[in-house]
Amino acid sequence: MDLLEYQGKQLFARHGLKVSPGEAVTTVEDAVTAAAEIGYPVVLKAQVLIGGRGKAGGVKLAADEDEVREHAANILGMNIRGHVVRTLWIEHASDIATEYYASVLLDRSAKQPLVMFSVEGGVDIEEVAEKTPEKLIRHHVDALAGISREEAEQVASEGGADADVVGGVADALVALYEVWLTEDATLAEINPLIVTPEREVRALDAKVSLDGNALYRHPENQELSDSENEDPIERRAKEEGVQYVKLDGDIGILGNGAGLVMSTLDVVAQAGGSPANFLDAGGGSDAEKIKQAVELILANDAVKAVLFNIFGGITRCDEVARGLIAAFDDIHPQVPFVVRLDGTNDVEGRELLQQAALANVYAARTMNEAAEKVVALAAGQG
Ligand code: GDP
Ligand code: MN
Repeated sequence: MDLLEYQGKQLFARHGLKVSPGEAVTTVEDAVTAAAEIGYPVVLKAQVLIGGRGKAGGVKLAADEDEVREHAANILGMNIRGHVVRTLWIEHASDIATEYYASVLLDRSAKQPLVMFSVEGGVDIEEVAEKTPEKLIRHHVDALAGISREEAEQVASEGGADADVVGGVADALVALYEVWLTEDATLAEINPLIVTPEREVRALDAKVSLDGNALYRHPENQELSDSENEDPIERRAKEEGVQYVKLDGDIGILGNGAGLVMSTLDVVAQAGGSPANFLDAGGGSDAEKIKQAVELILANDAVKAVLFNIFGGITRCDEVARGLIAAFDDIHPQVPFVVRLDGTNDVEGRELLQQAALANVYAARTMNEAAEKVVALAAGQG
C-alpha cells in the first residue's frame, strides 16, 4: 500500500523525523488560505503515487498569493504520467544547502534490513546506483538488534555527509529505520533529505509503502489507503473480492490458488514471457467468478495473450469451462487464450471447451506446454 508524500511525512513526524509543516488541499481557494496560514514562501506539491513530480511541473515555489493561485490552478487536475492530481500538499518552502538520499527496505536476498544513504540526493537514485555505485552506501542491519546511533553515524560519515551534519543525518537514519520497522513498512525513502543553510537535516520528500497484510496492527493507518489513486483495475478487483496485482508484462495470468498462480508466473517467465498480472480466482471458483476474472484481465490493454491455469480441487474444471464459455459469449475476447485444466472434472471441462469450439482458445495438457504456447502467441508466433 503506497502512501502519498504528505501521508508519509505524517508517519515521519510521528517518529521524530523532521519535516516542514504544511496542509493538504483540493481547491485553489483552500490553497490560498493554507498558504497564508503556513506563511510565505511556500511550495506546492502534486500528491500522486509516482515520482519525478518536480520534472513534470508538479512541484512549484510560490512567493505570494498570485503565484499560489497560478500554480495551484495548473497543478490540480494535471496528469503526471497517467496519475491525475486531486490533492495538493502545501508546505513552508525550505532553503536548501545540500540534497542527500536515505532509505530503508528489506533486502530479501540477504534476508536483512538494508539502510541506504547517499550524498547524491535529489536525483534519480537508480542512476547513482548504476553509474557511481560507490556513492550509494548499502548497510545491512541486524534485524534483532536494530540500528544503533553509532552505526548510523558510521553510515553517514562513510557516505560522505558533511562533518557538521553527521549527527543530524544519523538521527534521521535512526528515525527512518524506526518508521520502517514499527509501521510495518516495506519501503521508507527520503529523496531529498536536505541540509538547510542553518545546517538542519530535514525530509523534503517521502516515499513510504506499508505492508497491507500488517494493517490490522495499525488501525490508525487504515485511513491512509488511497483508493482514489489506486490502479482502477486493482480497485475493481478488490471490490469484487478477487486477488489481482498488475504487473508490467503482456501475458494475462489466471489461476486458482496463490501458490499455483505464483508458479505459473515463474513458468511463464522461464519460457521467456512477461506476465501482465497476478490473478487468483480463489478456491471454489464458479462460472460467474471466472467471468469476472476474464473481464478484469482484459481490462488491461497491454494483455496480448492469456494463460488460464486451473487445478481442480474444490474448484471443478467443468464449472471453470462454463465460466470461460459464458465470458466468451459476453465479451468476445480479441486475444488468444491458452487453457490448462487439470484435476476435479477435468475431462468434462475439456469436453465442454471442445464442444463450444471457441475461436482463439488452445488447450494444453501441462504447465510447461501451456507456458510455451502462450509466450509464442503473445509474441505473435502462435
Ligand atoms: P519528486 O520530483 O516527485 O521527487 O518531488 P520532490 O519532493 O523530491 O521535489 C523535487 C525537487 O523540488 C526537490 O529535489 C527540490 O529540489 C525541489 N523542492 C521541493 N521542495 C522544495 C522547497 O521547499 N524548497 C526548494 N528550494 N526546493 C524544493
Ligand atoms: Mn523526491
